[in-house]
Amino acid sequence: MKSTNGISPRNDNSKLYCPHPHQIPPVNDLPVHERSGAVYPNSRGFMSFTLVRFIHTSISRNHGFPIMSPKKKLFTTAATSTSPKSSEERLVVVGGGAAGVYGAIRAKTVAPNLDVVIIEKGKPLSKVKISGGGRCNVTNGHCLDKMILAEHYPRGNKEFRGSFFSMHGPVDTMSWFSDHGVNLKTEDDGRVFPVSNSSSSVIECLMSEMKKRRVLLQTGKVVTTVSTTVGGKFLLKIEKRTINSVEYLEADYLIIASGSSRQGYTLATQLGHSIIDPVPSLFTFKIEDPHLAELSGVTFHKVKANLKLENVQKNKPQLSQVGPMLVTHWGFSGPVILRLSAWGARDLFNSGYRGILLVDFTPDLHIEDVKTILIQHKDHFAKQKVLNSCPSKFGLVKRFWKYILDREGLDGNILWASISNNSLYSVASLLKHCSFGVTGKGIFKDEFVTAGGVPLSEISLNTMESRIQSHLFFAGEVLNVDGVTGGFNFQNAWTGGYIAGTSIGKLALDATLEEVI
Ligand SMILES: Cc1cc2nc3c(=O)[nH]c(=O)nc-3n(C[C@H](O)[C@H](O)[C@H](O)COP(=O)(O)OP(=O)(O)OC[C@H]3O[C@@H](n4cnc5c(N)ncnc54)[C@H](O)[C@@H]3O)c2cc1C
Repeated sequence: MKSTNGISPRNDNSKLYCPHPHQIPPVNDLPVHERSGAVYPNSRGFMSFTLVRFIHTSISRNHGFPIMSPKKKLFTTAATSTSPKSSEERLVVVGGGAAGVYGAIRAKTVAPNLDVVIIEKGKPLSKVKISGGGRCNVTNGHCLDKMILAEHYPRGNKEFRGSFFSMHGPVDTMSWFSDHGVNLKTEDDGRVFPVSNSSSSVIECLMSEMKKRRVLLQTGKVVTTVSTTVGGKFLLKIEKRTINSVEYLEADYLIIASGSSRQGYTLATQLGHSIIDPVPSLFTFKIEDPHLAELSGVTFHKVKANLKLENVQKNKPQLSQVGPMLVTHWGFSGPVILRLSAWGARDLFNSGYRGILLVDFTPDLHIEDVKTILIQHKDHFAKQKVLNSCPSKFGLVKRFWKYILDREGLDGNILWASISNNSLYSVASLLKHCSFGVTGKGIFKDEFVTAGGVPLSEISLNTMESRIQSHLFFAGEVLNVDGVTGGFNFQNAWTGGYIAGTSIGKLALDATLEEVI
């Protein structure tokens, strides 16, 4: 049953989880506490759910901070077990990336009494750190209209035309960071960065907000399995990465914000979700052309590129992109290529990253204009060597002009007067339809994301709650969402985290009210 705002009502069975003092086992059998309130199994192996719940209660009383003396604190807990329900509820967030951290902070902001624990297997916010070449492209400041914004998501574009970004869009993100002390600037192309030009500003802000709001962050621990208990809670198995130990932690709410990690996908499937096969997005193209290496570093301000792949619907609009392009040592990069790689991610994967790239190097000129310009140039510069004089209207560098002449088999040392009009028409044709063989996928160091993950059809974008499992939420790259470069991927993470955190915070507050009434 769903409530009218799309948020599932809490499972009332959860109230059965307050243990009676008689259920407390002898002290020697009690598990040892961990910093987060996570617990090791006792000498009998797995803990009973009731006991997990009990340990949970003791943690709440201590605001999630270290409990040094299990004995003492457990008895304290038993004495206070009639406190309000809200303080007994816990959100566990799997993954301390952008989506998980933002979601945790938001949940704790809406419901300060909720225990919020993030389990992170590595270092928190590690992708934020390296993002945008170490500057962190937080969001995009030129796509404020949600319809235009949605167009920047090869996976997600249809679904994001709805309320998703209206609930927390780029302006809200920028305000949030500004309000929390991170001054931002918008560059000419719309990318938003911290004024400090350092991702550390973003990380410090988020870490300090987590500390202030008492979000508990546990690092070096992997959530390996998850199941549901009879009472409708989540039971998480957590393994430490460095030592051979296992802990179990119970949660009333769960956000899976595990990015593109396979373990995260596994957790989603354990809770009944399907996974759309993950494939890479945002990569450069390897091009088969021995002469291209000589052009390494050449940039084109504006080209139009069409990607032709076998078994793909002809003239698929997104496989044609206009914008800057860059020649690398072994192929092409730049916004046009990255956008093509994103829109064609799945087709490219299916084609083994092989296809034909047709590039128009003079996209603002009709082919007849290109021919006319060449003929006029021949008239005006008849006595100059072809290589030394390229029509300025084309805006091409000499190195690339030589490449074009070489490809046409023209000697650059001949004079313009000596070149036939037919040869010039061929040059015009090559400039408009220059074909390159794509032979593979390169590694683009600045940004890389994964297409695929939990299908959007399996969650409600109004709440980020699973349509399959009540109180389970997803945010960020774990979903079948990916954006092109320019801050769109982080925006997906901030928005998803914010909506999930808000939904959980409201549910936790409602639970408190229920208890009071
Ligand atoms: C090099 C690079 C640069 C980028 N630059 C930009 C940019 O400038 N702008 C932009 O918009 N996007 C950028 N991106 C994309 C952006 O980083 C991601 O879209 C974004 O980080 C996704 O956030 P997330 O929280 O969903 O996932 P992540 O940031 O991947 O966080 C997921 C976290 O979950 C943890 N985790 C996973 N499974 C488990 C588990 N089972 N137990 C415990 N922890 C787990 C992982 O260790 C990870 O820390 C860049 C990506 C890369 C790789």
